[in-house]
Amino acid sequence: MMDESLRNLLQKMPKAELHIHIEGSLEPELIFALAKRNGVALRYASVDELRRAYAFTDLQSFLDIYYAGASVLLHEQDFYDMTLAYLQRAHADNVRHAEIFFDPQTHTERGVAFSTVIDGIHRALDDAKRHWGMSGALIMCFLRHLPEEDALATLEQAIPHRAKFIGVGLDSSERGHPPEKFARVFARCKELGLHLVAHAGEEGPPDYIRSALDVLHVERIDHGVRCLEDAALTRRLAEQRVPLTVCPLSNIKLRVFDRLADHNLLKLLEAGLLVTVNSDDPAYFGGYVNDNFLRMFEALPLGREQARLLARNSFVASFLDEAAKRKLLEEVDACFA
Ligand SMILES: [Zn+2]
Repeated sequence: MMDESLRNLLQKMPKAELHIHIEGSLEPELIFALAKRNGVALRYASVDELRRAYAFTDLQSFLDIYYAGASVLLHEQDFYDMTLAYLQRAHADNVRHAEIFFDPQTHTERGVAFSTVIDGIHRALDDAKRHWGMSGALIMCFLRHLPEEDALATLEQAIPHRAKFIGVGLDSSERGHPPEKFARVFARCKELGLHLVAHAGEEGPPDYIRSALDVLHVERIDHGVRCLEDAALTRRLAEQRVPLTVCPLSNIKLRVFDRLADHNLLKLLEAGLLVTVNSDDPAYFGGYVNDNFLRMFEALPLGREQARLLARNSFVASFLDEAAKRKLLEEVDACFA
């Protein structure tokens, strides 16, 4: 059993969340409420039946259900409600800053306007700032199983909304869709001054991490846990202080590791990597960010020092400006004093 004071510390320490797909925060109850509100028929008879379908065998089996869940999102208010529900839970976990992924292509291909998606999500971020002083920023992800042309067309739709998002990322099915498939669209995003991140080295090989860095010029790697298979790459990530946004419960649900006790989080920290802990798709993977911290600290020999380091890393790895980072890092230090 974990020490009670460590448990309290993990819960109350200020933290940033940097790897959360907003569509992955859609809880079964909200899926059913929105399906009813919008007259959308679901393949599942009840909340329980939907929850039972969450027995994934790999990334693809999850994605199939994830896209079915997102089909209930039609109106600006739906995107707002989904986002505010996440932000409320994050606030309860003392998340002070969230950098949130959204997948416009999941919605635009169903005929939902780009502006409907981003306006609803963005309005919730404004309200979280006003109510709780919690900052939020959006990172638009391209679906890597679709052609690069679709990503380029999505970027064109996004440009009129440039002020509402800070960067772009790459998600969905990793294997067979290497980063270099998106070289042109990432080059264009770099010209636009957007921050660049990509999922790499979750199911895909360490080489995908290397090409995300060298071809796409990303600033952060999402997941990246397979980097340890390549010693030279691990050294490079440590030396260049490239952040990894690690998602422990996701890694178990999608069978990247069999058990939390087998997770390589401690090894990543010992290799000097700038690791952060995040929830990925919390409604589907069994927990929000504090659940990820608590379960990981129960399963591995991690203590107060690692808690402080992980809280600090979350802000260091964020895209906040230096003044905001300094202020939040002081709050972390005060919490551990
Ligand atoms: Zn992810």
